[in-house]
Amino acid sequence: MNCAQTRELLSGYIDGELPPDQAMELSEHLTTCAECAGIYEELLATVRTLREGLVKYRAPDLLRARVRSALREEERPVVARPTPRVRRGLRVPWRSLAAAAILVVASSGITFVATRDRPSAESSIGEEVLTSHIRSLMPAHLTDVASNDQHNVKPWFNGRLDFSPSVPRLEDAGFPLLGGRLDYVRGRPVAVVVYGRRQHVINVFTWPTDASGDAARTLTTSHGYNLLHWRSGGVERWVVSDLNAAELRQFGMLLER
Ligand SMILES: [Zn+2]
Repeated sequence: MNCAQTRELLSGYIDGELPPDQAMELSEHLTTCAECAGIYEELLATVRTLREGLVKYRAPDLLRARVRSALREEERPVVARPTPRVRRGLRVPWRSLAAAAILVVASSGITFVATRDRPSAESSIGEEVLTSHIRSLMPAHLTDVASNDQHNVKPWFNGRLDFSPSVPRLEDAGFPLLGGRLDYVRGRPVAVVVYGRRQHVINVFTWPTDASGDAARTLTTSHGYNLLHWRSGGVERWVVSDLNAAELRQFGMLLER
C-alpha cells in the first residue's frame, strides 16, 4: 500500500471499517512510513479530543416530539423502498473535522478560563500551552528545526531567544528528540523542544521566570491530554502529550536529571 492509498483509507481505518486484510496492509505501512504514521497519530489525537471534549446535550422534550412526529410523517408512504444491500456505517470525515475540533478545543479552553471565578494564572497558562500543543500537531507545525541531534537543536535557539533551553539526550530511554521550535505563551516567545515516544508527540515548553521559589511537579489532565508543570532554578517547564501519565512522569524525571 502506498502513501496516497493509506491516507485515503485512514478515516475508515480509525473507525474500524476496513476489511481485515486491508487494515493489516495499512498498519504495516504505518510501521514503515513515519510521515503517514504522523498523520495517523494526529488524526487519532483529534478524534480522541473530539470524543472526550465535546459535551452531549439532551434534546429538549419539544424538539424530541417534533423529531418523532416528523419521522412518523416519513413512514406514512406505503411505497416500499429498496433496502440497500450493504448497510454501511456512517462515515465520519475525521480529516475535515480535524480543523473544527481544534477550534472547539481552543474556544472551549478560552471559555474554561473566562467562566472560572478566579482563574489561577497556572491553569490559564496550562490551557494556552495545550492549545499550542494541539496546533503543533497540524502538518508542518511541529518543528522549526527538525533534528534528532541536540547539537543541532540547542544552538538553533541562540539569537532567537534570550535564554537557552536544555536539550538532554533521552533516546536511550525511548524518548527520541524530534526537534525544536519557537512558540508564544502569554505573548512572549518560549522555547519548545519536541520529543517522541512511539507514535506520541511530547512538547516541552521552557521559559525563564521571575517567580520566586520552585514549584513541585504537578500533573493535570485536560481534553484527553496530560500536562506536567514544574518550576526550578528560575525556569518554568510545561510538558504536554497524549502519552499516558505514568510514562510522561518518567519523562519529566529524566528531563530534570
Ligand atoms: Zn506513507
